[in-house]
Amino acid sequence: MKARNTSDAAGNEPRPRTDERLRAGDSPLPRPAGPERPRRLRRSIGVRRMVRETRLAAADLIYPLFVEENRSEPYPIASMPGVARLSVGDAAAEAERACALGIPAVLLFGIPRTKDPGGYGSYAPNGVVQQAIAAIKDRVPDLIVITDVCLCEYTDHGHCGVLNRHKQPQPYAALPAEYVLNDETLAVLQRIAVSHAVAGADIVAPSGMIDGMIAAIRSALDEAGFADRSIMSYAVKYASAFYGPFREAADGAPQFGDRHTHQMDPANAREALREAVLDCREGADFLMVKPALAYLDVIYRLRQQYPELPLVAYNVSGEYSMVQAAGECGRLDAAAIQWEITTAIKRAGADLIISYAAPALAHSIANQD
Ligand SMILES: [Zn+2]
Repeated sequence: MKARNTSDAAGNEPRPRTDERLRAGDSPLPRPAGPERPRRLRRSIGVRRMVRETRLAAADLIYPLFVEENRSEPYPIASMPGVARLSVGDAAAEAERACALGIPAVLLFGIPRTKDPGGYGSYAPNGVVQQAIAAIKDRVPDLIVITDVCLCEYTDHGHCGVLNRHKQPQPYAALPAEYVLNDETLAVLQRIAVSHAVAGADIVAPSGMIDGMIAAIRSALDEAGFADRSIMSYAVKYASAFYGPFREAADGAPQFGDRHTHQMDPANAREALREAVLDCREGADFLMVKPALAYLDVIYRLRQQYPELPLVAYNVSGEYSMVQAAGECGRLDAAAIQWEITTAIKRAGADLIISYAAPALAHSIANQD
């Protein structure tokens, strides 16, 4: 502020910035005398299209898919109309459909046949996600495959990491039995990420909010010869009630306790900047904010603070489901609301939006233009 109010080297008084002039009631531009008429720029659909500031494109979207081992027919998720758990083959077909609509990437979640305390199925060479990656790459090689890297769909307790009670032989006495151990979990995340890279994943997306997860995964990928694969960090993930329907979809609800010791408090925004800077330093290639709709201020702050990295926002299951539910009972136009919400997420600063409505949005965008 001070620098702007001093004269420059030639002794000229600096011009106030546009926003300062607006606050002072000045017009930022020389205008003819007479009333201002901003409605001129809204008078026809052609003009409105020309001056539209935010344009949602199919290329902005990432489509999540739930792939279940041992499944033959799609299993519709009751709380998420239009979303189903799919077999490996059906997931590949759905990925191809998304690609044909111009959607550049899918995000895979796996539901294994069996779960166990250590979540071993998460890094099995022939695990459900590993199979799905290969099937999708075989069918649509140019589609980007992103994989969720976490343990909650694979552990019988539904938690995102190694629990204190399973740490042998010496549990951490001062911590509760269901506490997710940080560094012990990192070693498992490394194995999951490498197994996804081996199967052909382009981008791995660790979602557990475990401290140091980006650095750990980066070094494991590099050591295994996958320096070319990217990491999309769930850098800012809140402990949100909006994840409710997802837990039915991915069968990953915690059997006891909650995720408050690793996911963020929804009341915090400054903490988001700290999480983001740590992940930048550790080597994240993308940053993510999750959920999206209730956290537009956080998306905006990250966009301003870290413009170098692509910013992703996850329009989560609860945000999707409440729009669908309101649409089904005739309270609002679900398709129009979904478009408006997704556009708002982009306007707030997201480059990419993970959306269950991605195919429907891509379809309507194609028909608009
Ligand atoms: Zn998890």
